[in-house]
Amino acid sequence: VPILDAPEEEKVHDVSKLDPPNRRKNKKRILVTGGAGFIGSHLVDRLMDEGNMVIVVDSLFTGKKSNLERHFSNPRFEFIRQDVIEPLYVEVDQIYHLACPASPIHYKYNPIHTLKTSFMGTYNMLGLAKRTHARFLITSTSEVYGDPLIHPQVEEYWGNVNPIGERSCYDEGKRVAETLCYDFKRQNGVDIRIARIFNTYGPRMALNDGRVVSNFVGQAIRREELTVQGTGNQTRSFCYVSDQVDGLIRLMNTEDVEGPVNIGNPTEFTIKELADVVKEVVEPRVDVTYTPLTPDDPKQRKPDITKAQSKIGWNPTVELRDGLKLMALDFKERIKNGDEGW
Ligand code: NAD
Ligand code: UDP
Ligand code: UDP
Repeated sequence: VPILDAPEEEKVHDVSKLDPPNRRKNKKRILVTGGAGFIGSHLVDRLMDEGNMVIVVDSLFTGKKSNLERHFSNPRFEFIRQDVIEPLYVEVDQIYHLACPASPIHYKYNPIHTLKTSFMGTYNMLGLAKRTHARFLITSTSEVYGDPLIHPQVEEYWGNVNPIGERSCYDEGKRVAETLCYDFKRQNGVDIRIARIFNTYGPRMALNDGRVVSNFVGQAIRREELTVQGTGNQTRSFCYVSDQVDGLIRLMNTEDVEGPVNIGNPTEFTIKELADVVKEVVEPRVDVTYTPLTPDDPKQRKPDITKAQSKIGWNPTVELRDGLKLMALDFKERIKNGDEGW
């Protein structure tokens, strides 16, 4: 049939509407940037268990190949060591874009590179999503709310962020990454999801990443003093990693979710209370010591998760004490084996 006489639906050869030749039926080809890191590697475990083909792209700046060891011999799995600030050409159906250092000592190590990661990295991955028609999810952060003036934080809150402080490379980087997502959606029709992740903890966190839960658990196991910064009256809410991964997968696979979605555990603790729980669960024979607070430290943080509950049917299920026990098992093993580095 001459193309001009063909029925309307056959005139356009739209590759995105065809099944690619080398894909398992009903399984997806999924790209996870930052998949060698803490949250990324747990996400990869779940996606592999579900039978998908998974490509991890990671520069190994903070992540480790050993986090993915179990998948290396699986033909459905592929690892590419690459920085996301460079363009990437692969064919995928979904992109989970996690690549970005997340702990304050890591993102402050090379702040300009942190900003390049958030802007150029997200730009490249959105360009990839545009070309492949893949659905795109970015892990943003509660830090976009800065030192929040409303409590708990709802997604509609625009935040209170210092644009020129030491944390700004991360906070403002993620804010501009969210803006890029929305501009690719409006200008190019890219199907995007934004998860605003609140403090998440669990096995495989880097032992020396300076974050409060990894510091306290490591210190308790080594029988060192727990370093509470400032008064310890500042608050955070801690989400166990399996809950977090469940939230990300639900958000990716729910149709028509408009706007960013908070994913975090709403149970709030002061840092002093966290120290007490770690002592109780991991090692009671340690003391607490007080050290100076870092600049721009948010005083209070707790997610409002009404949107996650109603739009993607998500609720965290793991209590802090249970999650800390699981994390302590992993940390004990790694400390015993001398795995202390990033
Ligand atoms: P992580 O440091 O363990 O993982 C980040 C991964 O990204 C690492 O494997 C690292 O090597 C890789 N990476 C960093 N820069 C890269 C680059 N330019 N190119 C390629 N790879 C790069 O941190 P995480 O806690 O697993 O965080 C994952 C994501 O979740 C990040 O986007 C972070 O901003 C977000 N997040 C995490 C938390 C949390 O509490 N863990 C809270 C809010 C947001
Ligand atoms: N890009 C990529 N992989 C792709 C497609 C695009 O890494 O498969 C990057 C590339 O660097 C490009 C950017 O994403 O510059 C933005 O893509 P877009 O199509 O919006 O921009 P353009 O090609 O017009 O520069
Ligand atoms: N914090 C602490 N002791 C530590 C590390 C962190 O008291 O050894 C405090 C820090 O001042 C902050 C809170 O714990 O108020 C959470 O810090 P983290 O770096 O884990 O995450 P973020 O500030 O990004 O929420």
